[in-house]
Amino acid sequence: MDAYHARYPFLRAARAAVEEAGVDLSELVRTDDAVVDRARERVERALTDREIGPASRSTRVELLSYPVARVIASLVDANIVRQRYAEAEATAARERFQADFADSEEINSVGAPSLDRETLLREFDLESAVRRADGGFEMAVSDYLTYAASLRPSKWRLSTRVLADGWVSITADELDRLLQQAVETRVESGLPLSVPDSIATELTAAVTAIERTLEELDLTREIDTVVPELFPPCMQHLLDRVQSGEHLAHHSRFAITSFLTNIGLQTDEIVELYRTNPGFGEEMTRYQTDHIRGDSSPTEYTAPACATMVAYGDCVNPDDLCDAISHPLSYYEVKLDDEAEDHTDWRERAEAED
Ligand code: SF4
Repeated sequence: MDAYHARYPFLRAARAAVEEAGVDLSELVRTDDAVVDRARERVERALTDREIGPASRSTRVELLSYPVARVIASLVDANIVRQRYAEAEATAARERFQADFADSEEINSVGAPSLDRETLLREFDLESAVRRADGGFEMAVSDYLTYAASLRPSKWRLSTRVLADGWVSITADELDRLLQQAVETRVESGLPLSVPDSIATELTAAVTAIERTLEELDLTREIDTVVPELFPPCMQHLLDRVQSGEHLAHHSRFAITSFLTNIGLQTDEIVELYRTNPGFGEEMTRYQTDHIRGDSSPTEYTAPACATMVAYGDCVNPDDLCDAISHPLSYYEVKLDDEAEDHTDWRERAEAED
């Protein structure tokens, strides 16, 4: 466990360091208030300020607070907490690695070993997918799409890029933005974690504090509102297909059912929506919906992001707002916000958030 791991806790080496130290998570959350407090701060600041707050002076506290923060984020019953938390960790990571990249010394300004771009590319298995070219970089198109597909501004669309022989031209800053996206994906991967009761009990106070913050910020209010005319085009299309009696492939049915569940529809309401489908099976619909909701499974599933929707051919009729979001739930959230504040310029806001 050293300062490098604490600075970049999402790295495989940092995880290995925690494992090698033989830390017992259950014991840690029961006995180490400093770690739990810093973990709670990471998640709370992600919600209030879209950042993770200042690093602890203790390398140990800073590093161990990362896995505990992922546990806390898992225990709060709201997907937006995990999304905002992953975003904030990735934003902090980018600030740090860009500072390291700019530092020509081996030891950076905070005394921790520097992370260089080649190492970070290797971390995400991108070393052969990125090459230098004309003062900037080129990225293999499939890897570019993996990370750029979920970015909001239209400048990331492949149709607006220079593409030659399967390589996409990008600037150094754009490469760093894609690496930030890779970090975000890794932080969010596997969340929500399945947390043993003994650990959840010890974290009750931290989780309650996050829930209170969430309530004050009112971040979940809008997403619990059901306004079908504001659904993203993909979900409107899937819902139309269900209601017109078409048989949906498993991935499509999962997409619309998880979306409806995530925005607050109850199982009974989803069953009613699907009932018009001649191939409708109430028992199966209830089973699938309860499973997605996490009532009959250890996981509450989140609707697929746009990149996944595109990959499965479920992204249909994307409109201008689609250029500015990376997730159908974000589309819906922006639409609801715009309804509430019809003077809001969504494009400016989306660009500012990026
Ligand atoms: S871009 Fe995203 S939100 Fe828009 S239609 Fe495609 S999948 Fe749906």
